Amino acid sequence: MARRGRLVVANWKMHPGALQEARRLFSSIARRIRRVRGVQVVVCPPALYLSELVRSYRGANIRFGAQDVSWHAGIGAYTGELSAMMLKRIGAGHVIVGHSERRAMGESDKTVSTKVKAALDAGLAPILCVGEEERDHEGGYLSQLEWQLTASLDGVPRTQASRLVVAYEPVWAIGKRAQSAVTPRLLHETVIFVKKILSKKYGRVVGMKVPILYGGSVEGTNAGALSREGAVDGFLVGHASLSVRDFVSIVKAC
Ligand code: PEP
Repeated sequence: MARRGRLVVANWKMHPGALQEARRLFSSIARRIRRVRGVQVVVCPPALYLSELVRSYRGANIRFGAQDVSWHAGIGAYTGELSAMMLKRIGAGHVIVGHSERRAMGESDKTVSTKVKAALDAGLAPILCVGEEERDHEGGYLSQLEWQLTASLDGVPRTQASRLVVAYEPVWAIGKRAQSAVTPRLLHETVIFVKKILSKKYGRVVGMKVPILYGGSVEGTNAGALSREGAVDGFLVGHASLSVRDFVSIVKAC
């Protein structure tokens, strides 16, 4: 079966500490992936740097995303919030929603599903993060995953599901080294499970088409095997997206 184009998303989190460094990191990545084909790269810098990076980028193979979005639409008296409409207008095409670091700060599945809907309504593609806290031997993590995914998509209609991206990010694998990532075989099984849940909710035709990314200690050394054997459509990359060498080798491995 022909494989679809891959998607590699860089989640810079709260890095780097200054716009100057963000520009340098971005342009080194852009230069080194100029000739890469068949992989869509999305860079999600801190929102503060977004418009400047969008404005100065002249190439075509990087798109931009945000790391979070308000569940309030449009504009309003919501101190500290950024709406999907605002992010879209400054050039974001994607937004990460429900990252485990935000869930750890108190974000509920209900809030996550409202943010997913706000993003879709504004024309952004939400990258919905889900993943179990730990992997038990009895398979309890599968119920946690099913519950979280279903609740995070509550009220998201089939007509909008074709613009969704799901990132499977097991919490136990985040922010470590490549050896701590999920194995390609376990990843493959989990991706099939996620596709089954999506197919149950949206029907096979739509459910099977939702791109599934993996995130959790993807580095240059494990990206090839995870990409070949893990049945994923790409990666959501955290710490390794701050290293030009590592990030570029992940993109090339796809
Ligand atoms: C993440 O936090 O989304 C992530 C994938 O982090 P890391 O690659 O550092 O594990």
